[in-house]
Amino acid sequence: MENELVRSEKLKMVGQLSAGFAHEIRNPLTTIKGFVQLFRQSAKKEKDIQHYDLVLNEIDRMNSIVEDLLGLARPTSSGDEHGIQVNSLLEELLELYSQQAVKNKTFIYTNFDELPEIIGDRKKLSQVFVNLIKNGLEAMPEGGVLRVETSMHWTGEPYFEVKIKDTGSGMSEEQLQKIGNPFYTTKSNGTGLGLMTVFQIVEDFKGTLEVDSAPGSGTEFNVRLPAQLAGETMSSDSQNAN
Ligand code: ADP
Ligand code: MG
Repeated sequence: MENELVRSEKLKMVGQLSAGFAHEIRNPLTTIKGFVQLFRQSAKKEKDIQHYDLVLNEIDRMNSIVEDLLGLARPTSSGDEHGIQVNSLLEELLELYSQQAVKNKTFIYTNFDELPEIIGDRKKLSQVFVNLIKNGLEAMPEGGVLRVETSMHWTGEPYFEVKIKDTGSGMSEEQLQKIGNPFYTTKSNGTGLGLMTVFQIVEDFKGTLEVDSAPGSGTEFNVRLPAQLAGETMSSDSQNAN
């Protein structure tokens, strides 16, 4: 228990530090990108154009890292807390990826149980689901099925569950040990910050995250979040809030 606490405090510090860092880098990076784009436009030689494209690619990579680092650092309780309808949040997020899915011949299947609202920072919770959805889709470059299911569990301390399951590459034991470590990625354009962010936010929500995966047979992420505020949040007021 104590170790867990120390770990989460450390993670928070790392988060804050990286966000400060990322914030400082973002603006100069935008300027640099603007100028390189300009130079590329007026470049004449094919070789120069190729080199500028290379630089632009690297800048985009830096931008992804900066974005992910910024995501890490939103404070636990930003005061920006609302009743969240998890099902409609998921629908919104899946909509963002629907075109990419169609292009990749990936079928998205949803099965939603009725859920009470959860109180919390909507953007943070979005980050959890976005990262898991993105990873699932990225694991199926040749197409497949992404299943997103929600269910409510009333026994004991009530909690709800979001399962995000893909039929993609899956992960080995060795990979599973490493996920969530900062910068651990197997993708050429990955940042290896997605799951670290997911783990941290789920912890902030006092939830749990389980992974079930094997090479060749896909991956299932299982997010469980306590819904102890359900009684207060089921009022008609907050139900209409979304
Ligand atoms: P990134 O997506 O930038 O690589 P993440 O932290 O989101 O970083 O994921 C880390 C690594 O975990 C990925 O590079 C991949 O190897 C593995 N991984 C995560 N989700 C999945 C998944 N659904 N299927 C297979 N591998 C996954
Ligand atoms: Mg990712």
